[in-house]
Amino acid sequence: MIAMANTENMVAPEDSCPSCGERDADRLVWREDETVECQRCGTVYRPGGGGDG
Ligand SMILES: [Zn+2]
Repeated sequence: MIAMANTENMVAPEDSCPSCGERDADRLVWREDETVECQRCGTVYRPGGGGDG
């Protein structure tokens, strides 16, 4: 792992934090219930656009 290009560590736009827009994978923790916890603002959300159908 080379920590020089942050863009390589970005998640997909639809997986970004809906609250603060965080996309850094190092700040987004995937949980067992398929939600993501943003370490930047503390928001827990479900990635992938939020379509529940
Ligand atoms: Zn956030």
